[in-house]
Amino acid sequence: MFDIHNSMTDHRDMRDLTIIGGGPTGIFAAFQCGMNNITCRIIESMSQLGGQLAALYPEKHIYDVAGFPEVPAISLVESLWKQAERYNPDVVLGETVTRYTKLEDGTFETETNTGTVYRSRALLIAAGLGAFEPRTLPQLGDISHLVGGSVFYAVRSINDFKDRNVVIVGGGDSALDWTVGLLKTAASVTLVHRGHEFQGHGKTAHEVFEAKEAGRIAVHLDTEVRRIDVVEGELTRLHLRARSGKETSVDAERLLILIGFKSNLGPLAGWDLELCDNALVVDTHMKTSVDGLYAAGDIAHYPGKLKIIQTGLSEATMAVRHSLSYIKPGEKVRNVFSSVKMGKENKAT
Ligand SMILES: Cc1cc2nc3c(=O)[nH]c(=O)nc-3n(C[C@H](O)[C@H](O)[C@H](O)COP(=O)(O)OP(=O)(O)OC[C@H]3O[C@@H](n4cnc5c(N)ncnc54)[C@H](O)[C@@H]3O)c2cc1C
Repeated sequence: MFDIHNSMTDHRDMRDLTIIGGGPTGIFAAFQCGMNNITCRIIESMSQLGGQLAALYPEKHIYDVAGFPEVPAISLVESLWKQAERYNPDVVLGETVTRYTKLEDGTFETETNTGTVYRSRALLIAAGLGAFEPRTLPQLGDISHLVGGSVFYAVRSINDFKDRNVVIVGGGDSALDWTVGLLKTAASVTLVHRGHEFQGHGKTAHEVFEAKEAGRIAVHLDTEVRRIDVVEGELTRLHLRARSGKETSVDAERLLILIGFKSNLGPLAGWDLELCDNALVVDTHMKTSVDGLYAAGDIAHYPGKLKIIQTGLSEATMAVRHSLSYIKPGEKVRNVFSSVKMGKENKAT
């Protein structure tokens, strides 16, 4: 996955548009902001951009985006980002927007789960199916106090696993990739999967089995984690139970749970906006029932709506262009042709 880090800008800085959601729609909206000479900030709840493409089907190929006869989902995300990056949009990863307030002067405050408040002149909701959050192991109870110390739902820094006994849970691409990826870093790697077969990529699955044959990792199929031992706030051991009923335990200092994501409309559902079928009703300008607040992509609803990438990209374009009349009152909304605009920009540099 290509590397994008949080922008180092001050959250108090006013931006023209706050874009809630960094899926394909949100990323393309950021590009459109640059095209229309307005500033923006993307806030994304996951630790990566790409929305459903990155969280649910990164390795699948997409065939119905214009100009791309066949493209892996994650490569499309990368291309979208490359396009948007030209205008240096602010990116805030790992924060979920919980609340928005429209102030008396018509500007917006957007608050996230960290309590941080971001300011902008207008708001674009590109939240897709809702905020993605990692699936957890409910049988372990509340382990939130261990997250980021000895329990992880994503690899942010490989150093968190250096010289540690690591247990990875999952059987999809991420679990397999990190089983192979941590081999050289961790003291030991154990892979636990409740299924009989891996769902992940054949080539990586093969590498996992090779490593197992070579005695470099342990693999437990048809097996679930039942409970964990924690000593003085540190994970020490994991107890497993196979489908056959056989119980075993393994040393574990780090638990990496990679069993996918679930989406949750969450706080958005409680906002005072008109909803239909769990989506925000918009008009022909992609405006919601609140002036200055727009929606695009899977989260936007109107009669005849199609929830596909291409629609979201087009709606992002419409939403950003029409937001101009709110952001810069009195300014005429006109077509901006990239061929003309970029031609001029390229000549100037
Ligand atoms: C398995 C599968 C295959 C698909 N194949 C295709 C295909 O071949 N072609 C096609 O055109 N479409 C396909 N789709 C549909 C396509 O993925 C969606 O239409 C597209 O992802 C919508 O993009 P989006 O940016 O609107 O929303 P999303 O991709 O859902 O992105 C929304 C983002 O907003 C974030 N977010 C939500 N709420 C908040 C919040 N409160 N705070 C911060 N962040 C938030 C989420 O974490 C998410 O990252 C497929 C979908 C699936 C599930």
